[in-house]
Amino acid sequence: MPRTQTIIRPSFPTDYQSILQRVYAINPVRYGRTRNYLDGAVSYLSPYITHGVLTLPQVRDMVLENYSVQQATDFIFQLTWREFFYRVWWQLGDDIWQDIKDPQQDIRTYEAPTAILDANTGIYALDEAVRVLYETGYMHNHARMWIASVACNVCGAYWKLPSQWLYYHLLDGDIASNTLSWQWVAGTFASKKYFANQANLNKYSGIEQHNTFLDVSYDELRSATIELPRELRLVTHLALQTPLPPPKPISIDTTKPLYLYHAWSLSPTWKANEDAERVLVLEPSHFQRYPISEKRVQFILALAKNIPNLKIFVGEYHQLPNLDKASQVVFQAHPAVNHWRGYATGPVWLFPQLPQKMYGSFFSYWKKAQRYLR
Ligand SMILES: Cc1cc2nc3c(=O)[nH]c(=O)nc-3n(C[C@H](O)[C@H](O)[C@H](O)COP(=O)(O)OP(=O)(O)OC[C@H]3O[C@@H](n4cnc5c(N)ncnc54)[C@H](O)[C@@H]3O)c2cc1C
Repeated sequence: MPRTQTIIRPSFPTDYQSILQRVYAINPVRYGRTRNYLDGAVSYLSPYITHGVLTLPQVRDMVLENYSVQQATDFIFQLTWREFFYRVWWQLGDDIWQDIKDPQQDIRTYEAPTAILDANTGIYALDEAVRVLYETGYMHNHARMWIASVACNVCGAYWKLPSQWLYYHLLDGDIASNTLSWQWVAGTFASKKYFANQANLNKYSGIEQHNTFLDVSYDELRSATIELPRELRLVTHLALQTPLPPPKPISIDTTKPLYLYHAWSLSPTWKANEDAERVLVLEPSHFQRYPISEKRVQFILALAKNIPNLKIFVGEYHQLPNLDKASQVVFQAHPAVNHWRGYATGPVWLFPQLPQKMYGSFFSYWKKAQRYLR
């Protein structure tokens, strides 16, 4: 029997003051020492960063109010991963849905391993991480790597469908970070596949377990000769759907500038002091293509409440009433709203000094970025 330990179940408040307090609570020194452990001092900020409530430079600068760059470098390093993935998405667009560098090797299925979805792999740390995901909408970074590795590199699933399953349930589900991380683990956006064995899980989860299909050496794991339990060979085809709220008509005052928000630009400070009509546009076509859970929909609607007088429009951009009569349409640039017309602000980068282009690897981006750490 495994020595069981419950994995932390974080909660995610939605009011802006609590979110800011969470940023000030970060201790980047403890973070650097413990972030790989499931009970480490991670920030739990990703849902807010994903939805644009906080920007990366805002988080960095708030941390640097209390810590030196040297103390905060490990933390800024991780923020930079997110920026790197965004740079790649801006550059490649929909091509991030194809294997980026090399085709995935040894594919056995294009579906998702049922045992992972059912939290029934027999590996306590993995199953518990999936249960935490379903309960809270969060999974620790290391657990995400383990799950993706078992799904793609042990069970032989093509990365796409399992990645969509994880994206669906995460409160921080982010097309760039999620898709490109899965590709990184599966070896299609990295020089090799990522593997973790039971000893690694035991060390970082605090849960001691032996005699599992992962309780083997890395050579055995990589050689793909391990005996998979029958349950791990069963697969499920997922048909995920987004339960958006029903569309309701809205009116738009065309004498004011029209500030449009999307689900990734929910900052209460963006143009806060200006007099404008403000509308959050939830496009069904987007959420059909990239489904998210009911929990995530409710989270987005709760975050939207931080923006005074924000109207909610469930419909396509071109269906907005009186769009052609609006004196000015302004929104925050984002790859998911490239089809919107008007004045797009941003994007806001940690390292605006670096040109927008394809960076071949995270480390080539980090190497250039380091010059601008202040
Ligand atoms: C398979 C897989 C899927 C992932 N899917 C997503 C996703 O959909 N959305 C998402 O935001 N992150 C994703 N990540 C990255 C990372 O797991 C999460 O950002 C992190 O776990 C969020 O928790 P935190 O806010 O406590 O992070 P912290 O460790 O406290 O880091 C602070 C911030 O830095 C950024 N960050 C940290 N680590 C990474 C990383 N490895 N890659 C990119 N950004 C990082 C995030 O914005 C995070 O909020 C994924 C990683 C893997 C391996």
